[in-house]
Amino acid sequence: MITAKARAVDGPDQPFRTTEIKRRDLDSHDVLIEIKYAGICHSDIHTAHGEWGPVNYPLVPGHEIAGIVTEVGPEVTKYKVGDRVGVGCMVDSCGECENCRKGDEQYCLNGNIPTYAGVDKYGEPTQGGYSTHIVVTEGFVVRIPDSISLDAAAPLLCAGITTYSPLNHWEAGPDKRVAVVGLGGLGHMAVKIAHAMGAEVTVLSQTLKKKEDGLHFGAESYFATNNPETFEKLAGSFDLIINTVSAQIDIDAYLSLLALDGTLVNVGAPGEPLSLNVMSLIGHRRSFAGSTIGGIRETQEMLDFCAEHNIVPKIEIISADEIDEAYKRVLASDVKYRFVIDISTM
Ligand code: NAP
Ligand code: ZN
Repeated sequence: MITAKARAVDGPDQPFRTTEIKRRDLDSHDVLIEIKYAGICHSDIHTAHGEWGPVNYPLVPGHEIAGIVTEVGPEVTKYKVGDRVGVGCMVDSCGECENCRKGDEQYCLNGNIPTYAGVDKYGEPTQGGYSTHIVVTEGFVVRIPDSISLDAAAPLLCAGITTYSPLNHWEAGPDKRVAVVGLGGLGHMAVKIAHAMGAEVTVLSQTLKKKEDGLHFGAESYFATNNPETFEKLAGSFDLIINTVSAQIDIDAYLSLLALDGTLVNVGAPGEPLSLNVMSLIGHRRSFAGSTIGGIRETQEMLDFCAEHNIVPKIEIISADEIDEAYKRVLASDVKYRFVIDISTM
């Protein structure tokens, strides 16, 4: 067993505390990763606060993991000691179902094993990246391109792939008008990636406070959703809307912004249900869809795409003692645009 230092939370309204967790001995295909940086995703907060259902505390969140391979199991072929690698939101899946065979492990019909708040193949609870080490089977580890620093790479493992995958699937490109709702961790990645894919990008943020940043990330235009005129002005004008908002919003109002055959993809995952009026869909053959992260092959493709297009998230590095404060700031939409924990401060 390997002992790792970690930060854990004991309940929905508890602060983080220092702890030690055990990582399993390496199985034949496992790699041991010394974690250097871990991003803070809003999903960590939903989970830590119990908003997605009951949680087995203590919980160590973190599924935006970047680090260095320090040991490999005897049958590992993909990685060697010293490699720069990442781990995202899942650490295993059945590998045999139709979806896994297609490379869509995130939609594993037997349920993928999440990086934290899950149970692994050995019956042990999974614990995430707010820790110094993790053991993961090589098939769920991705390679970080040399041109991307480890701190900037971390958020790509969730925020990057969660936005790349639907933009890819719904074919964001030169002839597509794409709107991104919410300019937080996911939102700012969606803007950068959609822009690099050649789409015409609009940001829909609550206010105009972050307009300069949004345009700098690659948006052509930027509107405030607290202004009702925005919805009149932009009615019917997008082919694809990516909603990254972590709270309930008026879905019908956003559907009204779609053109004929347009799709609104929800990646935001608030704890409460979102409702809509089918009339918002049927009159213009619109679709309302959802999407979660991406498969391992697609995650590697996203990292290589980001390297090729010089795309990195805008991050604020914090120490392990600042996690509680960072959670408060994310909840107040005061994040520019991803907090990343420097694990050496653990
Ligand atoms: P984040 O950094 O907090 O960004 C969310 C943004 O939504 C905020 O910056 C804010 O943008 C906007 N927002 C927040 N509260 C709002 C409200 N009440 N009304 C309108 N807009 C509001 O969060 P994130 O890490 O990007 O994650 C966003 C959501 O995606 C979370 O629910 C998370 O769990 C989910 N998620 C899903 C997946 C998946 O696989 N589908 C993966 C990762 C995360 P403005 O300030 O610009 O308005
Ligand atoms: Zn995430």
